[in-house]
Amino acid sequence: MTLRPLTPRPLHSRLGAAIEQIPFTASDGTELGLCRVSAGDGADRPPVLVLHGLTASSDMFLLPETRNLVDVLLDAGYEPWLLDWRGSCRLPYNEGRVRYTFDDVALYDIPEAVALVRERTGGKPLQVVAHCIGALCLSLSMAAGLVPGLAGVVAQGVFLTPKMSWKTRMRLHFGGELLRSRLVNIPTDFRKVGLWSKHSLIFAEVSLGAECKDPTCQILHNDSWGVGGSLFEHENLDTRTHDRLADLYGTVPMWILPHLRQIELAHTMMRHNDADGRYDALPKNALDEADRIEAPLLLLSGSDNRFWYDSNKLCHELLTTRHPDLDVRYVEVPGYGHLDTFIGRNAALDVFGHIVDFLDECRAAAVSAA
Ligand SMILES: [Zn+2]
Repeated sequence: MTLRPLTPRPLHSRLGAAIEQIPFTASDGTELGLCRVSAGDGADRPPVLVLHGLTASSDMFLLPETRNLVDVLLDAGYEPWLLDWRGSCRLPYNEGRVRYTFDDVALYDIPEAVALVRERTGGKPLQVVAHCIGALCLSLSMAAGLVPGLAGVVAQGVFLTPKMSWKTRMRLHFGGELLRSRLVNIPTDFRKVGLWSKHSLIFAEVSLGAECKDPTCQILHNDSWGVGGSLFEHENLDTRTHDRLADLYGTVPMWILPHLRQIELAHTMMRHNDADGRYDALPKNALDEADRIEAPLLLLSGSDNRFWYDSNKLCHELLTTRHPDLDVRYVEVPGYGHLDTFIGRNAALDVFGHIVDFLDECRAAAVSAA
């Protein structure tokens, strides 16, 4: 598969930071995107690896129209590293018929990115901030023991214990099979669909009862890709972000649904590929191997997350009960849904402070331990 060159990202940093693209091909031959945001001030900055969600990309952390996570990490003295794993809309894999599962992300993308960042930063204490499916896949890597020694991990929306609404669960289990048999993927950008395509019925369905007229907003906010749920609180988005959601969120591959359905049914992250020995390094049930998780953990969630609901609250309850020695905290951000915890116009005020406080604490602990 030929990769389109990754376009330069807009970067509006007070520090005059620069983005350096790091060539990165996973060991199964999949070309991925990795970049380092260098402040260029010569300061000793610990790296933070940032992981986006499925169909998004690292651009969700670099919104030029708001004070974004990269700005905040730079100002707090960190060096952000942004991974575009194979589910990124900056990469072509979601649009193609070359299939991957979350196992590939947990086995290849995340551990190999962690190793590369460590190699390039001289083994400085590394922390990770992960969102949605990026966080789910990270939980599988961690339970497999593939990313040992992380200094701290922030997981937004979901981590080890995916849990959706009954409505979404039903549609995922019954409607999902119907969709999968008819469609390879569902685009987010209505302009690419056209009025009479096989996708137009889905756009018609998600528009039912919608208050906003924007079709891309409807497929994300009113009825996420036709499986129910809502991905953000509408009033939390800057108008400029709202109007370019189609640039930020891309096509959803339908062939990912069986793995999603499997983990949602079990309420735990699981390995999907049982017949292929390459994946034996991953645990069948990540929750059963949670004692391999050693990094301090911050589980974040918007109080009004209407996609993963109280998944992270459940995860916190389970981990604190089963593994009382683990440093795991739960923070709920009032008035926030899911995506808006990172792309919301006031996320820097309402959300990122929790992240930086936690990273600072873990950084200090890592320094004193060293
Ligand atoms: Zn809207």
